[in-house]
Amino acid sequence: MNRVPWTPIVIVALVLLVPLLLSAFPFYLTLANFIAFGALVALGLYLITGLAGMTSFGQAAFMGLAAYTSAILTTKAGWDPWLTLPAGVMVAMLGALLLGGITVRLKGHYLPLSTIAWGMALYIVMGSLTNLTGGFTGLTDVPPVALLGFKLTSSRAYFYLAAGFVLLFAWMARNLTNSRIGRALRASRGDAVAAASFGVNPATLKLQVFVLSAVYAGLAGWLYAHFLRFVNPSPFSLDASIKYLIAAVAGGVGSIPGVILGAGLVVSLEEWLKDILPVLFGRSGNYEIIAYGLILVLILILAPKGLWPFVERYWPQAQPPRPGGSGLPARVSEPEPGAVMLEVSSLSKRFGGLVAVNKISFELRRGEILGLIGPNGAGKSTCFNLITAVYTPSEGSVQLKGQTLTGKAPYDVHRLGLARTFQHPHLFPEMSLLENTALGTYARTRAGIMASMLGLARWEENAANLEAYQALERVGLAHLAHQKADGLAIGQLRLLEIARALASDPEVLLLDEPAAGLRAGEKRQFALLIRKLVAEGVTVLLVDHDMDLVMGLVDRVVVMHYGEKLAEGTPAEMQHNPKVVEAYLGEAVA
Ligand code: ADP
Ligand code: MG
Repeated sequence: MNRVPWTPIVIVALVLLVPLLLSAFPFYLTLANFIAFGALVALGLYLITGLAGMTSFGQAAFMGLAAYTSAILTTKAGWDPWLTLPAGVMVAMLGALLLGGITVRLKGHYLPLSTIAWGMALYIVMGSLTNLTGGFTGLTDVPPVALLGFKLTSSRAYFYLAAGFVLLFAWMARNLTNSRIGRALRASRGDAVAAASFGVNPATLKLQVFVLSAVYAGLAGWLYAHFLRFVNPSPFSLDASIKYLIAAVAGGVGSIPGVILGAGLVVSLEEWLKDILPVLFGRSGNYEIIAYGLILVLILILAPKGLWPFVERYWPQAQPPRPGGSGLPARVSEPEPGAVMLEVSSLSKRFGGLVAVNKISFELRRGEILGLIGPNGAGKSTCFNLITAVYTPSEGSVQLKGQTLTGKAPYDVHRLGLARTFQHPHLFPEMSLLENTALGTYARTRAGIMASMLGLARWEENAANLEAYQALERVGLAHLAHQKADGLAIGQLRLLEIARALASDPEVLLLDEPAAGLRAGEKRQFALLIRKLVAEGVTVLLVDHDMDLVMGLVDRVVVMHYGEKLAEGTPAEMQHNPKVVEAYLGEAVA
């Protein structure tokens, strides 16, 4: 169909039109500027809350750091605002690094709580360092920003600057969203275990994004200071942070247009409420915060995803094309069949008094399919979680190609060439099948936050998408590539997990009951697929209950029972081993 990029054209045209339409209403031009500043802060919140799932009540404080840095350096040291922009943003980033470094790693409510404390503390500092900041009266005579020799003193000129930044930073946020980093962030928000088993280190990524959100807030603070040409603590207080958070949530914190919409609504509402609330209450005061609280509660009840989803329905959606071009470079591995790939040595795991895995040892050799079987509760999945470092063993060790895995993090284990599926699929229902699968390429790709934001990693992203698409083709799900994963049947979910694992180009593939829930036809397809993978050099460790499937597919079997290894041998040997027949096969027949 048509390839004209209508959306950006319409957006830019609107931005150019706004000041012309509003030129007769200076109040609204000023408001448009405030909306732009708010939109930048809200975009930062989109990154940390929408993408990464963190909550911050400290964004206005980051704004304040940059605003004050810029105001102080321009008024007291005579710097040019274009020099104080990076300086101010840097100070905001340092603040975020400090706060985030301490708290991002901590889970749960620590981050929001510490951002509240941070917001309150900084407000007091800004108000009390009278010599430096002018205290609560603030700093006046902040110089205007000059562009190409023109001083941006009119609201209209300034709006073009502010809106230009909003568009640029929205575009960068969008690039980040659609990159490997964005995928990894959404994945670790949804299911940290699954993200880590594909090479994502959530703590590092979250800290980076938290600092990035301070860049957005810092830019907004700088714009604010040089627009009003005056700074005082109140626009950077905890109340203001709450206002921005509510704006982002009200508009829809999960989408870029959503948070911009939210900023527009809440900033406009603020002006209106400032006029109307004192009339209603009969005296002046900060009643806005009460109104915001009510709005937030209403939105969370009536539209938990914010207002944007209601608008989005009418927004034209483009169908993404099938990925083309070339894929990612394949793993170079030494094809020496028979070499020991994975060595499990007297591995044990105790959960309290329960010994789930008891001194299990086995080897997995290159190019083979090893079956790990045993009745429910035998400890097979626990074994998988020990090998992939999701659990720390109570005793024993695991080696992959001679490297000890014990003590490593799941994301490091994955990078050594090990991919897995889960007995209960760990997928991302909100993401498309293609995105789910593309997470598998995370450890094969490099682009960092900067390159992703600036769109410099397009070829890599295309290659990753192509790999993901081809992996979907291999499991027979390519026709659903752009559908969300939440509508899939259990058999399809399992195939999707296999596709994701394949996209990582694994040397060793760990499959936990991959055929459970598959139909007979799908099972035959599955067996063919596994054979094909093995022919291509992949080594497979397979847990399954379906005896026909296991016995017809695997080279060797390890039988587990009550956490212990009962027997090991070829499928034929196991079928005639009396202990195995009694413990497992007998039960299966019965
Ligand atoms: P299988 O995969 O062979 O069915 P599992 O490895 O899932 O068996 O479970 C082995 C035993 O360990 C079971 O008794 C199970 O209840 C227990 N178990 C597994 N995971 C945990 C856990 N995280 N905490 C406590 N007990 C667990
Ligand atoms: Mg299991």
